[in-house]
Amino acid sequence: MAPLPSDLTQSAGLSAPTAAQHPLDAVITPAYRRQRAYAPRPADLSANLRIIPLLEQFDNQLADAVRSCTENIFTCNRSRICAICSTRRKWRLLSNHKPFLLRMQGAVLLTLTTFPVRFITKEKVLTVSRMFSRMKRRACFRRAVGGGVSALEIKASDSGWLVHLHVLMERKAPLSKNWVKTTWQSFGGGQQVDIDPIESRATMRTLSYLLKYPLDSDLIPSDVDHLRQYIRSTWGVRLFQAWGSAHSLHGRARTARVVSEVRQ
Ligand SMILES: [Zn+2]
Repeated sequence: MAPLPSDLTQSAGLSAPTAAQHPLDAVITPAYRRQRAYAPRPADLSANLRIIPLLEQFDNQLADAVRSCTENIFTCNRSRICAICSTRRKWRLLSNHKPFLLRMQGAVLLTLTTFPVRFITKEKVLTVSRMFSRMKRRACFRRAVGGGVSALEIKASDSGWLVHLHVLMERKAPLSKNWVKTTWQSFGGGQQVDIDPIESRATMRTLSYLLKYPLDSDLIPSDVDHLRQYIRSTWGVRLFQAWGSAHSLHGRARTARVVSEVRQ
């Protein structure tokens, strides 16, 4: 007599499914569940509702992704555009960097500017990142600075697109503002260079201020043309980075993951 289907599954060492699986079960990962633990804020929901019609004018796929997040169907992970995902990411980055911020000695906030440009391109954004990497490699800088975190600010203004770099770093030895200014300008940087000391109890607040540049939906352009340029020029670019002591305190692998989260 031919075995029944249930006998077949038993002989192959398989267990028969006990309950019907929901189609979403296959895609709901532990990371997804963790992210859902943060309830979207009403302000983030309304920011997304404002941006979706703009995205629909040039990128339907991106508009659909942000809509799915807004309608609580699926987490889109487009943290640079989606206000819900950017709030979650901001809180995660703050909590991941807390050990570094608490142990930070001689914190300073460095602001580096560039000259405005008429159109923003990925090349321009990458150039500013590379200029700061060059500065970090200089012996004078390495002697004075233990490490830190940097965030790129990219915004449209009446005079064109402005790209600024904001850096919260740990100063081990004096660093001359004149040297920073001259070096930055020799790389093609702008006139304005500031170094401000930060009180140790204000480091968390300062990181929160830095994170608003890559992650605050209020700073996303509300004009379609500017929005398109902003998305194209920043796609796949790291707007937030950690190096040196900000790296080693909670492990290279963990920071690499944190950094990649800001990258899209
Ligand atoms: Zn989202």
